[in-house]
Amino acid sequence: MNNSFDLQKLLRPHILTLAPYSSARDEYTGHVGVFLDANENPYGSVTGENFNRYPDPYQAEIKQKLSPIKQVSPDRIFLGNGSDEPIDLLTRATCTPGQDRVIIMPPTYGMYEVSASIHDVKLDKVSLTSDYHIDTQAVLDAVTPLTKIIWICSPNNPTGNVMQRDAIQTILENFAGLVVVDEAYIDFTDEPSWIQHLDQYPNLVVLQTFSKAWGLAGIRVGMCFASPELIRILNKIKPPYNISLPAQQALLEGLNGIGKKDRMVADILEQRDALTGMLQSLPIVVKIHPTDANFLLVQFEDAKGVMDYLIHETIIVRDRSRVHLCEGCLRITVGTKEENEVLIESLKKFHPRNVIV
Ligand SMILES: *Cc1c(COP(=O)(O)O)cnc(C)c1O
Repeated sequence: MNNSFDLQKLLRPHILTLAPYSSARDEYTGHVGVFLDANENPYGSVTGENFNRYPDPYQAEIKQKLSPIKQVSPDRIFLGNGSDEPIDLLTRATCTPGQDRVIIMPPTYGMYEVSASIHDVKLDKVSLTSDYHIDTQAVLDAVTPLTKIIWICSPNNPTGNVMQRDAIQTILENFAGLVVVDEAYIDFTDEPSWIQHLDQYPNLVVLQTFSKAWGLAGIRVGMCFASPELIRILNKIKPPYNISLPAQQALLEGLNGIGKKDRMVADILEQRDALTGMLQSLPIVVKIHPTDANFLLVQFEDAKGVMDYLIHETIIVRDRSRVHLCEGCLRITVGTKEENEVLIESLKKFHPRNVIV
């Protein structure tokens, strides 16, 4: 390692010394007893199901189940209200507003920039290369003494490709801040996760989510894997009950359903191939970018025209046509067989001179 990573130095000083909110359930973690400590309603809930008790603030049962699935110890796991929460907390823990900086590599996921903006953190953009890979030297050249985080999305949204392992490794070895690898789409690729390298790189943080492959976007749970020291800091600054009781119950059930997740992923991959084939046969399609995710970045001759036409047909895709390096492209999520066929049948009827009224 050429870097001199030191978590204590990277964190904002007041975060290191801060005393967290101590919740009633922090102080007694047993399951049975008479609970008169948290001002809950002892009779139950207004709903059919009872949600009257506060949930486990650290989701111990879920982490026990998740640990063997992800092959990582529970003390390296943080769960957030979507991945968006660890993105926000990592920024807050390390970046002093109006002073510190982070690096992103556009075109990429929008939340890294939003989080920086919310916290008045300066953003340095190092564009991906024209084939959507990391420009390693340019990234290292953009690092300043005030740079705290480098955000890497792999497979990348919206381009769909996995980032080169040697580029990520070089950045990990030469940057003394946090290198966050966002693996929201990891289930759709054969590439191994960076989780297995957490031991090797104390500055590595890996994000994953239950929102995509697991089909649980509605319960809002994201995963963050990092050193036990950093996980302790995230636990200290998170809102005390950030994962709700119904979300925790759904997850406990969902983690028993890994077979169903794998079957759905297999179906999505099959549909991804089928959709690619059908799109390729359309004359209005210029290019379909290779993908390791559950979406396709597709270049059209007239992306704006196609987008407006599809909205008129009540088919909603994501317009990326004005994004640097994605000019003329729409991002299309792989749907069910039926949904994809509806899309293709509509596109077959699209004519550049279609008049939208
Ligand atoms: C969808 C997505 C996420 C997931 O966000 P959640 O807040 O967990 O729903 C994270 N990162 C990227 C790049 C995504 O595309």
